[in-house]
Amino acid sequence: MSKDILNTLSPTLLMGPGPSCVPDPVYEALSKPTIGHLDSRFIAIMDEIKKQLQTLMQTGNKLTIPLSGTGSAGMEACFVNLVEAGDPVLILKNGVFGMRMVDVAQRLRADVDVLEFEWGTPVIVDAVKEKLAEKSYKIVAVVHAETSTGVMNPVGEISRLLEGSDSLYLVDCVTSLGGIEVRTDDWKADALYSGTQKCISCPPGLAPISFSDRAIEALKARKTKVPNWYLDLTMIINYWEGASRAYHHTAPINMLYGLYAALDVILDEGMENVFARHKETHEYLVKGIENLGLTMTVSPGIRLPMLNAVNIPEGADDEAIRTALIREYDIEIGAGLGPLAGKIWRIGLMGHTARKENVDRLLDALKALL
Ligand SMILES: *Cc1c(COP(=O)(O)O)cnc(C)c1O
Repeated sequence: MSKDILNTLSPTLLMGPGPSCVPDPVYEALSKPTIGHLDSRFIAIMDEIKKQLQTLMQTGNKLTIPLSGTGSAGMEACFVNLVEAGDPVLILKNGVFGMRMVDVAQRLRADVDVLEFEWGTPVIVDAVKEKLAEKSYKIVAVVHAETSTGVMNPVGEISRLLEGSDSLYLVDCVTSLGGIEVRTDDWKADALYSGTQKCISCPPGLAPISFSDRAIEALKARKTKVPNWYLDLTMIINYWEGASRAYHHTAPINMLYGLYAALDVILDEGMENVFARHKETHEYLVKGIENLGLTMTVSPGIRLPMLNAVNIPEGADDEAIRTALIREYDIEIGAGLGPLAGKIWRIGLMGHTARKENVDRLLDALKALL
């Protein structure tokens, strides 16, 4: 029986690139009774979630809602609603998720230009400035926290280059939201998306997004229908806003209970405290890693607190160590991707996971295994 497999699941300390550890109030919320998705009590929860997300995303954008689907659905939604065939799009790429954006935009037959930067280093603002002087774009897209490398991109500085232009600014905040500041309004971000299983510490399944008024205008000015029915915001808006909530698709009700509780946990601790805890835990980890004689991949100053790339020491067996961590210590860490495969480990300190006792547990295990 499948139940037998479920009964074998022991809690794993999730220190990879997501999912992260889920706190008890979220598990409790997920198991509350399922009610109708047009029940007024459920609509009240939807309204609360919108407000919580506006707070965490630091935005007054009315269209700030969780979409059904993981972070990639958020990415797809931003592009599919804003791009029409032939639209000029600039993507700033320095890792897997920038690469995914390129794929998504190309499938929509956008006219995609890519500025590529070395993996493990940030987007160079001056290079973006030069590119923008050559050509104007409908959309400029960047990943705030590049989970594949552990690099923080200068989204605030890039936003200043776009001031006064007609370009829409599209920002991936899947890994950053809930771990570092996401300043949607200050950055004048027009389309921003995230996911639940990174620093929000809710299981995967929802993609919070926020669209500015400018982005909504661009959506309304489309000459063609949004080519994806499920993620078409022109219809989804009618389910999440207004007096008469029209059925579009059945919301994943219990997942939304979970998100409601997860956001409550964050806001209850206080955003500033949560960000400070991520920073302190990250610094504690870096010190411990260096004490073990290991080195960090990314330069200080541009390191993400929630995703720590560590160079695999010479002679160490990447896969054997990750397997032993899981089997013997119930700890999951992430492998390197793309050009960094086999070269780095990715240690996540996301959301509820970002605690010194978890770092101690990992460092003890690594010490024994190395
Ligand atoms: C995880 C991640 C995604 C994709 O999210 P999924 O939930 O895996 O679909 C997109 N962008 C970044 C930066 C991520 O870390």
